[in-house]
Amino acid sequence: MSEKKKKLAWVDRTLCAACGCCRKVCPRKAIIIYKGLYAKVEETLCIGCKKCAKECPASIIDIREVDR
Ligand code: SF4
Ligand code: SF4
Repeated sequence: MSEKKKKLAWVDRTLCAACGCCRKVCPRKAIIIYKGLYAKVEETLCIGCKKCAKECPASIIDIREVDR
């Protein structure tokens, strides 16, 4: 059985400084800064391109594979 996997950005909210750097580089506008507290990824928009992960000064964004 071949299950389809999708790559998604995953943010460690407990470490996020809400700086917004990730949001600025996302080509899909998939990230919002939720209530000014942490970055939140809209899973239906994210394409797992890793741009946000490369940009995060705290390196707290992971690209994870999930079942779609
Ligand atoms: S992986 Fe790409 S599409 Fe997904 S949130 Fe990060 S920059 Fe946006
Ligand atoms: S770049 Fe990193 S620290 Fe800044 S808002 Fe995004 S996830 Fe949080």
